[in-house]
Amino acid sequence: MPNQELLLIPGPTPVLDDIYHALAKETMAHTDARFVKIFKHSLEMTRQLFNNTDGEVFVVSGSGTLSMEIAIINTVAPGEKLLVVSHGYFGDRFTPLAKAFGIQVDTIQAEWGKHVDVAEVEKKCTEGHYKAVTVTHVDTSTGVVANLDELVPAVKKSGALFILDGVCASAAIEEDMQKEYGNPDYRIDVVLTGSQKAIGVPPGLAIVAFGPKALAARESREGVQGYYADIKNWLPIMQNPGKYYATPPVNMIYAFEKGMEIVMAEGLETRYRRHAALGKAVRAGLEVYGMKAIASEEVAAPTLSCVLYPEGVNDAEFRSKLASKGMIIAGSLASLAGKAFRIGHLGNVTRADFVKALELVGETLKEMGKDADTEGAIKEFIRVYEANL
Ligand code: PMP
Repeated sequence: MPNQELLLIPGPTPVLDDIYHALAKETMAHTDARFVKIFKHSLEMTRQLFNNTDGEVFVVSGSGTLSMEIAIINTVAPGEKLLVVSHGYFGDRFTPLAKAFGIQVDTIQAEWGKHVDVAEVEKKCTEGHYKAVTVTHVDTSTGVVANLDELVPAVKKSGALFILDGVCASAAIEEDMQKEYGNPDYRIDVVLTGSQKAIGVPPGLAIVAFGPKALAARESREGVQGYYADIKNWLPIMQNPGKYYATPPVNMIYAFEKGMEIVMAEGLETRYRRHAALGKAVRAGLEVYGMKAIASEEVAAPTLSCVLYPEGVNDAEFRSKLASKGMIIAGSLASLAGKAFRIGHLGNVTRADFVKALELVGETLKEMGKDADTEGAIKEFIRVYEANL
């Protein structure tokens, strides 16, 4: 059991032993037929994850930020317009990224912890002639989950491509590229993600799924502002992983295959339900300690929560005391730094992990001279978890 700590940041997430074992297998030639089979199987499961039956998936070395870049540069040309719909820090990241490639960017930003105004998105899309719109499924800075049922139609009515950042959502919340949001044409065109969050594999893979309209956007162009990130260079490899373009991360693909097998063995529906229940239950348990998520339950994410400290709890002291007990959580970003912490409840984590986590939080609060009803917090966590499974 290599895991010595309870890694409850919003990714990377705890890695299961079977995945570590896969990662540690002997490195093969990337052209070896046995590796080609593993890579092919991984790609097939990635297509299933997004129900991406008429497009293509790309799995390459890199992190989520590279997958954001792949999504943008292959769909939007310099001088064309992109609308960034942002629920926080990671939504905002699309703006400098797109500007670096000479793309014209408009933004709609939500107040942190709240949803954007969908009517404003629809109006802006109608008037703005955007080539594409980015939406971050769960913004990791705020723990807000975007409402795709409202946002996909609001965007797709205008004909713009819908690009979904699933870095903090994929494999925990449904991202179905065949789903019609009220009209056969209203579908998600691109989902981009990384390996290290709800998929439960170490960091290192950029994963991007392109639907047919997004592939056509690339096809219609002579070239794009990238070489490694140009999906046209990767298409032959994703269709036949025995071909070479750039050396694939062989051991990470072993780990990814195992990680995706674990996801598929659990079943997507079960996995989505488990995450929804965990999210609600972790927030309910923490609330017993007087710790409240900045997002209300209607907009709060199944995958992570950004939680305000009660009066008088020092962020650095709280997190370092927890870390000394082996539980790692994250600080907050921007204006919330010092006022809130972020706790991930995503990937291959269990009810038992959070019973332990709530116990450690209670212990730590008591050490800091605060009241803490540990028994009550754990009871409430279990009650809400079981009620929502
Ligand atoms: N988008 C979201 C929603 C994220 O949470 C993150 C990482 N926290 C990123 C993009 C960037 O991913 P990476 O750090 O893997 O480059």
